[in-house]
Amino acid sequence: PSTQVDEVRRRLVDAGVRYFFGAYTDIHGVPKSKCVPIGHLTSAAGGSELYTVGALEGMGELGPNEDECSGHPDLSAVTVLPWDTRYAIAPVNLVLGGKPYPFDFRRILQDQAAAAAELGFRCDFGVEPEVYVLRRGADGQLAPFVAEDTVNAPTRGYDVYTTMLADPFLEQMVDHMDALGWGVYSFDHEGGEGQYEFDFGYSDVVTTADRMVIFRLMAKHVARSLGCLATFMPKPFQSSFGSGAHFNLSLADLDTGANRFDSGTGYSEVARQFTAGVLHHSAALTAVLAPTVNSYKRLMPRGLMDEISWAPVYRAYGDNNRTLMCRLPANRRCLEVRVADSAVNFHLGAAVTLAAGLDGIRRGLKPGDPVNYDTYSRSEKELDAAGVHRLPSTLGAAVAAFRESELMAEVLGPVHEAYANYKEAEWLEYNMVVGDWERAKYLELW
Ligand code: GLU
Ligand code: MG
Ligand code: MG
Repeated sequence: PSTQVDEVRRRLVDAGVRYFFGAYTDIHGVPKSKCVPIGHLTSAAGGSELYTVGALEGMGELGPNEDECSGHPDLSAVTVLPWDTRYAIAPVNLVLGGKPYPFDFRRILQDQAAAAAELGFRCDFGVEPEVYVLRRGADGQLAPFVAEDTVNAPTRGYDVYTTMLADPFLEQMVDHMDALGWGVYSFDHEGGEGQYEFDFGYSDVVTTADRMVIFRLMAKHVARSLGCLATFMPKPFQSSFGSGAHFNLSLADLDTGANRFDSGTGYSEVARQFTAGVLHHSAALTAVLAPTVNSYKRLMPRGLMDEISWAPVYRAYGDNNRTLMCRLPANRRCLEVRVADSAVNFHLGAAVTLAAGLDGIRRGLKPGDPVNYDTYSRSEKELDAAGVHRLPSTLGAAVAAFRESELMAEVLGPVHEAYANYKEAEWLEYNMVVGDWERAKYLELW
């Protein structure tokens, strides 16, 4: 292994790299790492860098007086940052006292990838991240980063003119993603002003989750270099579209690589069982896939939100139905899980979704018939009668379902309770706030 490390070091030095990050992520999926001068890569690769991981909220009880975790980089996943080639980054696994540290979200995902492999599958994963790029105006207000003529344009989705206006951001992003070999095959202006989406090649589930950590870094950097701000907040504006990060998952045959979701003529039994598992655990999954108080302001029916939502609201699946949590699209063979938003911890989110799908396969669950009508335009009562139930409508409700979930306890170990406590506290904190809306509504009502 040390010769392998030497080889990597040589390759990085040749590429002009001077610093190395071996990064884990915090509960939000934000990368954390010490910066190691490249000459010290060999010791870093051996786990020399120690972290008081528990000092970060939601990462376990590890106090300042206890042993530290060592970070063990996966050099097979090392990436030279194309926007600043002085830096390379690789994901690490966290080890405490010789054992895997439970709050290592990448390890949790690796464990689920291994569980899939035990059933003979490789999980493939693609994300459709949506992001707003904003500029703070002289008045302190946030505005789209390029002025867009809003006349007669309730939605900007796919708009060619405004896509081209955004090229200072979009072109740099695409160049960087292509330099990394991610294979961007399209990008577009999304529905909101200043909102964009990138679509790039699917990869195995761990690799894609690793890439999404870099994607967020990249978007923040590129936006900042333009004097702007890239935000992954799920619903930054009340009267504009939310930012989803739809998950696309499928299972390939471990030996042949063939997509086992494809029956040749449509979706296979494996795909249907996987979908049924995701639906069965949907309420608990939502606490991870829509992880903030703000996330639930995205998960609103279109009619309620001034026609500015394509976000999912119901725990059902359809062929091409964007109003539901799950979609089995006709133009590809994967399960699209639409509930995931841009604030998700990609490793944790992919892990729980994969675990739910595998549970559906193991138990031979059935998803029932697809729902192919526009649920936004039906009443809650009608839908309930048809067995189509709403996703949790608040973080509090989602966390309650998550806390009850035996599958989540099994998959997450000590992270289960810690995550539930952390997110419940977030929900309570939000509920304590007395804000402008309340004063405007109630202060002088009586
Ligand atoms: N922005 C929508 C969401 O919040 C998704 C739009 C689309 O289907 O691409 O999920
Ligand atoms: Mg989109
Ligand atoms: Mg999508």
